[in-house]
Amino acid sequence: MVLVFAETWNGQFKKSTFEAVQYAAACANAQGSQAVAVVVGPATAPVESLGAYGAHKVLHLHGPEKFETAQHAALLGDAAKELNASMIVISGTANGRALMGAVAVRAEASVISNVTALPESFGPVRVVRGAFSSKGIEVCESSSARTVIGLVPNALGVKDSAGSDAAFEDRNVSAASRATVVEQQLASGTIALPEAERVVSAGRGMKAPENWGMIEELAQVLGAATACSKPVSDIGWRPHREHVGQTGIQVNPQLYIAIGISGAIQHLAGVSSSKTIVVINSDPEAPFFKAADYGIVGDAFDIVPRLTAALKAHLN
Ligand SMILES: Cc1cc2nc3c(=O)[nH]c(=O)nc-3n(C[C@H](O)[C@H](O)[C@H](O)COP(=O)(O)OP(=O)(O)OC[C@H]3O[C@@H](n4cnc5c(N)ncnc54)[C@H](O)[C@@H]3O)c2cc1C
Repeated sequence: MVLVFAETWNGQFKKSTFEAVQYAAACANAQGSQAVAVVVGPATAPVESLGAYGAHKVLHLHGPEKFETAQHAALLGDAAKELNASMIVISGTANGRALMGAVAVRAEASVISNVTALPESFGPVRVVRGAFSSKGIEVCESSSARTVIGLVPNALGVKDSAGSDAAFEDRNVSAASRATVVEQQLASGTIALPEAERVVSAGRGMKAPENWGMIEELAQVLGAATACSKPVSDIGWRPHREHVGQTGIQVNPQLYIAIGISGAIQHLAGVSSSKTIVVINSDPEAPFFKAADYGIVGDAFDIVPRLTAALKAHLN
């Protein structure tokens, strides 16, 4: 049996949850087994709808109102042991990354994080993961009977849903928590970076924070999240939550547009697995061009408004 953590935000399933459920279902099908999704806490979306993504059953654990690592890890770990799960799939969101190790301890499992593909084999579990800040890959083999798989968000994407509703079971549960979540706030008007399909990112080439209007406008036209290089957030031009790279958020979008960013190795470490990279830079020797699928040599203050206008005209 393959167990998958079905993460919610404000009661709704995250896109990364559908991807994780499809991953778990593919693993289960390959082994002639079943995928059980575990929802913890309030869900306004009907939990049985996860059947459309391949879950055979959904276990809805009522009790915790908000995400808390120790509590969620205990509940998931105990469910995995009770159901004798051979794999536990957790998407590598911020909460997911916090959970992986703790769930593995509770469930007496090994953990393979940063996974980017379906397993090559299941007995033992053998799977490819990103390594060295995603500059390389490793093939990892679990030496445990139970394995936590930490899936990189957007690694496989969400395929069209096709299945029917899953069976579900409600349970009232409780587990000790070690911290209390007092308040949660989503940065308003923004798309969560780790899960974004498109990202518009800018660096020190933008010269000053007041020049970000054109970056935000381009992002808005594309339905993209905004991101930035490390020095830009260090000097306070942009919030730290937008910092991508080795020491920031790792992104994996379909489209990454880098504007006025040199392409230092530490920046590339967090963005190089983007499917298509577009670089806009006034310096033809900027290292980022080596990693680009499309490059535009020019002044961002000239190119970006023209690109936005062209996209607006095209999309309307
Ligand atoms: C341990 C360590 C960890 C690090 N982690 C990270 C990380 O996670 N993420 C990260 O981003 N960096 C990280 N860095 C910093 C990294 O090495 C670079 O210094 C940084 O990425 C450079 O940011 P930048 O490209 O915005 O600025 P710059 O290097 O100053 O580049 C600005 C670019 O803008 C271009 N430009 C200038 N004017 C224009 C214009 N008008 N139009 C178009 N282009 C223009 C220039 O040609 C240049 O290429 C780390 C460094 C260290 C040592």
